[in-house]
Amino acid sequence: MLIGFTATAQKTENVILVTLDGLRWQEVFNGADASLLNNEDFTESIERTSNKFWDESAAERRQLLMPFLWSTVKENGVILGNRALGSKVDIKNKYGFSYPGYNEILTGYPDDKVDSNDKKYNENVTVLEYLNNQPKLKGKVAAFSTWDVFPYIINDKRSGIYVNSAGKEYEETNSPNSALLNEIQEKIPSLASGRFDYLTYFMARDYLQEKNPNVLYIAFDETDEFAHEGKYRDYLYAANTIDGFLEDLWNYCQSTEKYKDKTTIIVATDHGRGDKVKEQWQSHGQKVEDCQSIWLAAIGPDIKNLGEVSTAHQSHQNQIAATVAKLLGYTFENGHEIGEPIQMILK
Ligand SMILES: [Zn+2]
Repeated sequence: MLIGFTATAQKTENVILVTLDGLRWQEVFNGADASLLNNEDFTESIERTSNKFWDESAAERRQLLMPFLWSTVKENGVILGNRALGSKVDIKNKYGFSYPGYNEILTGYPDDKVDSNDKKYNENVTVLEYLNNQPKLKGKVAAFSTWDVFPYIINDKRSGIYVNSAGKEYEETNSPNSALLNEIQEKIPSLASGRFDYLTYFMARDYLQEKNPNVLYIAFDETDEFAHEGKYRDYLYAANTIDGFLEDLWNYCQSTEKYKDKTTIIVATDHGRGDKVKEQWQSHGQKVEDCQSIWLAAIGPDIKNLGEVSTAHQSHQNQIAATVAKLLGYTFENGHEIGEPIQMILK
């Protein structure tokens, strides 16, 4: 008989995974970059943008950019990836662009064969599919994305997971919101992405409120699109807006019986962007140095309250999938060599 041997009680019953496409660690940890903010080629309305996002202190600047991350998450959760402090998170795949990154996040396996953003059904099993195949979670896993490649990445055909992306009508609930959200999606085209990130968010929130999934994935895209276009103001506003969505999501979860103190939110990105040369910030991919560097944040009842990690460590993108599964009490397997859960952030 093993006396005193007890399995750690997991408190997490729900996981919400959120990704911001191509948001650099540089802005997450230092806020707006002066050389980009003050460059007319990249920033419209420099004065107005600076009023909103500039402060001499980097600690203040990042608070201006992502106030929820740098208050509630910092105080109660963990933020990894500040390379200036030795905290490193990197991608393992060799490509540095979106589909390979999302494949690595969701399947835990940096697959050399996943080498394009084409709409090809993923052969690899994601942690979402794995969880949806667990009897307790069947039909309780869903995904909302701005980018319309996600139905392929998650392989909605094989996995049976509800994936709502740009161009797809949202008709999963009879809530009064769904008709308006669909009308906005139909009548107001987005200049940057397949649809506005806010539509992705409010559809996902409606689904959360009406259908109570245990696992929800929300994939935003506008940070990446604006960066590619060299629109630094819009890139900053996109990150700031999504930080507000995270706050709203957290507050909603903490206000309901189903989710309160039983929900972990993980926030991540698919790739970084260049840094050394100014124009490189717009880009990423195999030829762009530095874009393998990413960041990660988490908050929830099983997440250690480490705040901004300032000890030297190396974590990888391929560990996110196993971490999501572990939080829910499962050991993720999909036939490949996948990354271990990020133990240092888990209680
Ligand atoms: Zn991307």
